[in-house]
Amino acid sequence: MILILMGPPGAGKGTQAKQLVDKYGIPQLSTGDMLRAARRSGSDLGNKVAAIMDSGKLVSDEIVIALIEEKFDAGDAKEGAILDGFPRTPAQAEALDAMLDAKGRKVDAVLSIHVSDEDVVRRNSGRRTCPVDGASYHLEFKPPKREGLCDHDGAALVHREDDMPDKIRVRLEAYHRDTAPVLAYFEPKGLVKTVDGTGSIAEVFARLTGAIG
Ligand code: AMP
Repeated sequence: MILILMGPPGAGKGTQAKQLVDKYGIPQLSTGDMLRAARRSGSDLGNKVAAIMDSGKLVSDEIVIALIEEKFDAGDAKEGAILDGFPRTPAQAEALDAMLDAKGRKVDAVLSIHVSDEDVVRRNSGRRTCPVDGASYHLEFKPPKREGLCDHDGAALVHREDDMPDKIRVRLEAYHRDTAPVLAYFEPKGLVKTVDGTGSIAEVFARLTGAIG
């Protein structure tokens, strides 16, 4: 089963993806996580994308398509995958379809989590991230057990540069400009299922699994 999880930054994609992983036993492939891991490792790729990511803009299609292909070629998605944050542009959607086609596979559903722009800004301003393992928290909705510290490794949580309000607005613009056409790309294939992203994590999860069927 190959699922695509879509929604503006802070719609809860990452959180929901992790629960879908547990339920369906297929891995989450997040290009954002892969890029952040590349940055933490200080690799050439990481250094190359750092400034673009901090500005809230999208990195090139080529880079993220290569990252996803690498995972599929390595067999990470043998049983299926939950694609989180990819595809973000029509070119990425086409490249994904072409890659799956060549492997005799296809996208099963595109789950679009809907959250208003106002809520997006509020949610992302409260997000805090662990610089060591990448875990994500929220001051209001998902606070860590000890204030300001990661539950897993005790590292001091940071406010991601691209979660600052001015950067969030840039990311929202990018989302609306680039991602709406991705939905338009999958719509005629009858794959898009839009789910209300407001309410608790459990409520949104119930809507998602209901939509997957
Ligand atoms: P995310 O955590 O998914 O919001 O991703 C954080 C940042 O990584 C984005 O603002 C982009 O700069 C970059 N990024 C992640 N996924 C993609 C993608 N599919 N296409 C282009 N840039 C991406």
